[in-house]
Parts: sequence; structure tokens; C-alpha cells
Amino acid sequence: MASARHLCIVAFRLYKSSLREVEQYIHWHMEESIDLKDIIRSSQFRFNKALGQNFISDKNLLAAIVSDSGICEDDVVVEIGTGGGTLTRALAQKARRVISFEIDKNLMPVLDVSLKGLDNTEVVFKDVLRMSDDDIVALVGGPFKVVANLPYYVTTPMIMRFLESSLDVETLTVMVQKEVADRLVARVGSADYAAITLAVQMMGKAYITRQVSRKMFFPMPNVDSSVIRIDIDKTKLGTIDKQGLRKLIRASFAMRRKTLANNLSAAYGFSKDDATSLIVSAGFGPLVRGEALSLDDYLKLFAVGFEGK
Ligand code: SAM
Repeated sequence: MASARHLCIVAFRLYKSSLREVEQYIHWHMEESIDLKDIIRSSQFRFNKALGQNFISDKNLLAAIVSDSGICEDDVVVEIGTGGGTLTRALAQKARRVISFEIDKNLMPVLDVSLKGLDNTEVVFKDVLRMSDDDIVALVGGPFKVVANLPYYVTTPMIMRFLESSLDVETLTVMVQKEVADRLVARVGSADYAAITLAVQMMGKAYITRQVSRKMFFPMPNVDSSVIRIDIDKTKLGTIDKQGLRKLIRASFAMRRKTLANNLSAAYGFSKDDATSLIVSAGFGPLVRGEALSLDDYLKLFAVGFEGK
């Protein structure tokens, strides 16, 4: 016959395992039943158009962005723009740690509900563009990956902020306006090819991972989007003076209708003849335009007389 002690142990084990099942059920049920629109309605949050607040809640799209970012269990993720926390939550289920920056404190009551129960996630209510590299390192620590559904008005400064910083960023996976994505991955000589295409190439490799219809956001914006991933390699150009190279590239695209010689003489104060001879000595025709040169071509041009200028 079972002793009273043995019966107590069995009862305790049964109690513990059913508690675990109840916990698992609640957790599962929360994941399934989080409806951002409901949370926003009940917390009386008002969207701020000026902050580019177009949120996503479609589970398949959220999973696709997480998958495109290539993050895994060991990764620390920096998210820019927590919004309603749907992407944050999807990221937190995959990554080791998520630090998410949000400028709008009015989202606090929404996030209290939508991020409930996550113990690897921290929301920092700060404007990322006003934080120094040291501020970010103090919060994040070592290497990290950036994932963001970026507000359109800060797309370029935000991407450049991370690309040109001394921060240990491994990848940027960002939802941006489709036209901006097309510029970031444009081919030499195409209409979309711009100084920013080359600024990205200087620091890594960019590719579009998916197109996203405007219908996937609420409220619905006026533009369609693309997800772009940039795999960063800040050592790609070695010890070259990157500031100087960026200046040369920006000057070359300053006036698209002008020849490279005209743009360079205007930016550097050379005579047009001197600018033309530098261009020819680098191996290009005298009437070439900035958009006809690849990154390798700009490296050649830089070496013939623009270093340190
Ligand atoms: N990640 C959410 C999503 O995918 O549904 C929200 C994306 S919404 C396009 C962009 C969010 O970025 C907004 O919540 C906005 O308030 C926030 N934001 C705008 N500028 C910011 C900045 N400089 N620093 C941090 N967050 C910012």
C-alpha cells in the first residue's frame, strides 16, 4: 500500500506539471490572441503621422522580416521604432536579447500589453538619431543586428547613422519606401543610381529581400515598401580615407546633368582643365558623368588626386 508520503509526492508532481501546462496554455493563448488594433483602441492611443507611425500586425509578414534578417538565438537585436511592439515581439521570440528604441512615450500603455511576459526585451524611449555611439554601446554592449520598420522621413539618416558609425553592427534589415530601396541597390548608370548606392557599397552589400504592399500597414501609407538587408563589412575598403571618398562621390553626383569634370571643378575649386586631366589620368573619358562610374572606378579616381582633399 502506498504510504502517505508517497501519495503526497505524486500529488505534488501532478500539481506542478498541470501548473506548467496551464502556464504554457496561457502563453500560447496570448501569442495567438494579441490583436494590436484592439490594444490600440482600448488604450486610446492616437497615431502620430509626423513620426511615420504605420504599424504592421500580420503574423506572416512579421515572421518573414525576422527570417530575412537571419537572426538566431545568440543574436542581440537593436530595433528602431518599437511602435505597437508586434515586430519587437516576433524578434524577441528568436533572438537572445532585443533593445528597441522608440521616440513616442504615448506608446507606453500599448507596449505594456503587447510586450507583456517578454523577459529578453527592453524598450528605450529615446530618439536614436540624437544618441551618440557611446550611448548606444552602453545600452547594447557588443555586436548587434539592426531590424526596423523605419519611418520614411528618417530612412536615409538612420541607415547612414549606423553604416558610418564605429558601432559593431553586423547587418541592417529595414523596411523602407520602395523607391528608396531601389536607390540603395541600383545598378551603375541606372536612373536610381545615386551617391547613397555607393555609400552603402563602401560598407557592405545590400539586397532587397521582399516587396510589401501598402495594404499591410495600418494606418495605410501612400507608398509601397521593400525590405532591404545590408550585410555590413566595415573593413571592406581597408584604411582608405572614407570621409574623403564620400566627399568625392557626393560631389560627382551633385548635378546629374553636368559632366564629372564640371561637378568636380565646382566642388574642389580646380579649373575645368585640371579636373578633366585628373579624370583622364584615372582612365575615363573627358565627358564622363558621375553616374557612369562604379565603386572601383571611384577608387581609381580617388587615388589620382583626391586623397586628403
Ligand atoms: N516597428 C513597428 C511596426 O513595424 O509596426 C513600428 C514601425 S513605425 C513605421 C516607426 C516607429 O518609429 C514609430 O512608432 C515612431 O514613433 C518611431 N520613431 C520615429 N522616429 C524615431 C526615432 N528617431 N527614434 C526612435 N523611434 C522613432
